[in-house]
Amino acid sequence: MYCELKIVIKYVGGVCMAKECCICGKKKISGNQVSHSHRVSKRTFGANLQKVQVEGAGKEYVCTKCLKTLKKAD
Ligand SMILES: [Zn+2]
Repeated sequence: MYCELKIVIKYVGGVCMAKECCICGKKKISGNQVSHSHRVSKRTFGANLQKVQVEGAGKEYVCTKCLKTLKKAD
């Protein structure tokens, strides 16, 4: 899903790393994938990142949790 929201985000500066939220810095975490027969293997959970237009900073990746918070602030 691609949503183009024009949101005014206070751009703190610095470089946003790949696959990381630009506001809270949320990134992937590791956990276990458990099959139905209970075989366990490692997997990663990525943050739910969406590309949004940031004023004065172009397009940045922001997690959906931060988007919801920003939407509420408006
Ligand atoms: Zn975030």
